[in-house]
Amino acid sequence: MIIFLDLDGTLTNTTHPYFKKMKDGVDETDISLIRKYVFPDALDFIKNQILIGNRLFIVSDSHPRYVKPISEQIFNLPFLSLADKPNDRRTRDFIESIPDLKIAYKEKDNFIIVGDSWLDIALGRLLNIKTVLTKFYKSYVKEVRDDIGDDRRPIKEGPTYYAKNFKELSSIISNPLKNLLALEAVFQGKETANAVKFTFQKHVNGFTAFRCLARQEDGVCDKYARADKYFQIGHPNRSIDFLEKLSLSVSNYLKKVESSKKVNWDYLSYVSDKRTTIPSNKMKQIFDLVESNISKVKLFEWDNNVVGSLRNQPDYASRRTFISKYLSTNKIYDLSEKSIIVIDDQFTSSATAYEIATQLRKRGAKNILFIALFYLILPLSNKLCPRCNKDMKIKINRNNGNKFYSCTPPKYKGNGCGYLINIYNEQ
Ligand SMILES: [Zn+2]
Repeated sequence: MIIFLDLDGTLTNTTHPYFKKMKDGVDETDISLIRKYVFPDALDFIKNQILIGNRLFIVSDSHPRYVKPISEQIFNLPFLSLADKPNDRRTRDFIESIPDLKIAYKEKDNFIIVGDSWLDIALGRLLNIKTVLTKFYKSYVKEVRDDIGDDRRPIKEGPTYYAKNFKELSSIISNPLKNLLALEAVFQGKETANAVKFTFQKHVNGFTAFRCLARQEDGVCDKYARADKYFQIGHPNRSIDFLEKLSLSVSNYLKKVESSKKVNWDYLSYVSDKRTTIPSNKMKQIFDLVESNISKVKLFEWDNNVVGSLRNQPDYASRRTFISKYLSTNKIYDLSEKSIIVIDDQFTSSATAYEIATQLRKRGAKNILFIALFYLILPLSNKLCPRCNKDMKIKINRNNGNKFYSCTPPKYKGNGCGYLINIYNEQ
């Protein structure tokens, strides 16, 4: 494996503003000081990775006056400085400039990028390689590089993996397929119980947690994200084999949830299908195939007179209004003090999840776990239209799952010329 390592916040605990002048090359880099801020297991990690034959490179946005001495004197690794993340041009040029890297890059799966910021994840996506979001330190300040106030920014960027320490990182690198998210793994013939930990809110008497089992990419990504499979859910001719794979991933994750004895789960339910949903029983079929010891119930009911669709609501507020108006919780169950798991196909604006959680808590529910099969990650594209030079978006054909670049015209809410380029699926 070829491993691109971010420097600040990944190998060294140097995200504090104090280091900024060194990083920018304004002040001389104090190597003996930086040595004190190397994460305790970083050097062992590097040594072991080299021993097992992996190749490591430091890829940093910082100035060469900072990155060069650190890379050479502390880590003894080759490096790219002023990488200009999330832009991929400098890193692509770097790969091109090293003959065996260039050859290895013909198979993107040979690569993995590791970093603590959404910038590292976005760069990895643009390179079509696996990404690991690290959390090796507690933030001193709200990440200034991220959109302020949104601590979910890196998650929304859609990392392939998460690592809290170097041990987890080593495990991911040694067994990439066995560490995929639960739903992404089943399509690689592997079974895991990994989920994206979206949010966890504590209440007086319990909690509400949101978890997702796969990424639905919008644009470029590594090959394990599965927007194609998300769109297949809505296909009238979806196969039983496909539905079994989806439900297997839910069952695998639930096994882990049930084995943790902290909560005794009372009910397992799902966001019901509307009468008009196509295919009919879209979620019910998946739910019925899920294997679990938790009592399965149908908790939610759509109003028979539901007009319009959730998808067509313009914003978060109107999505919530739509759901609170038409979706209700079945009155025949006493939900007081109950712990409830709800499965849905997709977590986008989270309006459904929050509205459902609100309804359940109003009925006295204690703990709520909301599991979405897919969550939509942020759009990302690096192709310019050959005809008009505007940004092209990657779109997906809902009928066959094929991807294509689109210079989206005004007719489809874009500002482009309508030029299309087909992309042939690699998997
Ligand atoms: Zn164009």
